[in-house]
Amino acid sequence: MEKLSLCRICSAQCPIWVEVDEAGVPTAARGDRFNPHSEGFFCCKGKYYPAMHTSDRRFLHSQKRMPDGKLSPISSGQAIREVADRLQAIIYRYGRRAVAVYTGTLFYQLPHRLSSHCLDGCPGPENALCQRYH
Ligand code: SF4
Repeated sequence: MEKLSLCRICSAQCPIWVEVDEAGVPTAARGDRFNPHSEGFFCCKGKYYPAMHTSDRRFLHSQKRMPDGKLSPISSGQAIREVADRLQAIIYRYGRRAVAVYTGTLFYQLPHRLSSHCLDGCPGPENALCQRYH
């Protein structure tokens, strides 16, 4: 059976159809081509979302890398505080441009689709793919 859901890996939160088995375990995912925003788009991370979700290597709690290289459970609040402290130290020492943030693929949230022709320069409204965005 397929259930409509959304991918929670990044902030794009692409709508996805998830195939689940009799026990309700996700086994496959595909984009929702009838969704007016995503038009079926989902990326390779979303494709493997069911495998990540059911992996026995999946982290179920926040983890901190210790000096010996091993991971140790840490509360989310403490993890956020420690990351914030380290980012503040970097910004203080090197300036705010020393820090960048990755917020996800955001593919279909861009004003128009990024594709090879977009990277070469916007072809303008005469391009059928781009007409709705101009
Ligand atoms: S862009 Fe990829 S990772 Fe992000 S929500 Fe969509 S399918 Fe998931």
